Amino acid sequence: MTTITTQDLQALFVRIAEAIAREKDRLCELDGVIGDADHGIAMELGFAAAAKAVSELEPATADPTLVFNTAAKSFLNAVGASSGPLYATALMRAGAIAKGKSSLNDDDMVEIFSAFAKGIQDRGKAEIGEKTMVDAWAPAAAACRAARDQGSSLAESLATGLKAGEAGAEATKDMIATKGRSSRLGERALGHIDPGAASAVVVITCLRDHFMRYG
Ligand code: ADP
Ligand code: MG
Repeated sequence: MTTITTQDLQALFVRIAEAIAREKDRLCELDGVIGDADHGIAMELGFAAAAKAVSELEPATADPTLVFNTAAKSFLNAVGASSGPLYATALMRAGAIAKGKSSLNDDDMVEIFSAFAKGIQDRGKAEIGEKTMVDAWAPAAAACRAARDQGSSLAESLATGLKAGEAGAEATKDMIATKGRSSRLGERALGHIDPGAASAVVVITCLRDHFMRYG
C-alpha cells in the first residue's frame, strides 16, 4: 500500500498549478468559442492560489484534510467564475474523505477521486451529457473506481480513469449545453469541446502522472 503524505499532496497541488498555467491560453480559447474566454484565467488563479496556500502549511502538523480544506478556501476566494464553487466543493469533499487520517493510502485516493467528482455534480447539478466538466470527471472517477475494484494498482486505476475522462471530454464536442454560460448558444456549441471538461483532463493527467511512480 502506498503512503501518501501531506508533502505528496503539497507537491501534487504545485504540479496541477504548473500544468494549468501551461494550458491557460488553450483553455481561454476554448471558453472563447462557447463562453466568455476566462476559463484558463479562472483555473490558473484558483490553482495558483491553492498551491501557494497549501505550500505554506507545515507538513509536520498539517494533515491531508487541512491541505484539501486550505486549497478549497483559497480556490474559492481566488475565482469569481462558476468553476470556483464547483472546485471548492470538490476539494472540501476530498477533505472530508481524508478526515482523521495522518496520511492516505491507494484506496483513500480512489475514494477522494469519487468524492471530488460527486462534489462537482452535487454543487452544479449537471448530469452527464450536458456539456460540462462533469462529462470528464464523472466517467473518469467511475472508471478509476471500477479498475481499483478489479485489483488494479492506484497508478493503473488513475490511468484508466484518465482515458475515460479524455473520452468524456472529447464527447462534449457532440453535445448541446444545458447548464452554464454556453447553454445560451444552443446548437452553435456543437463541434466544440467544453473548456471545463478540457481542464478536468489536465487535472486528472496530473493525478495520473503524480502517482505513476508508485506503480
Ligand atoms: P464561467 O462560465 O462563469 O465563466 P468558467 O469559465 O470558469 O466559468 O467555467 C466554465 C465551465 O464550467 C464550463 O465549461 C463547464 O464545464 C463548467 N460548468 C458550468 N456550469 C456548470 C455546472 N452547473 N455544473 C458543472 N460544470 C459547470
Ligand atoms: Mg468562462
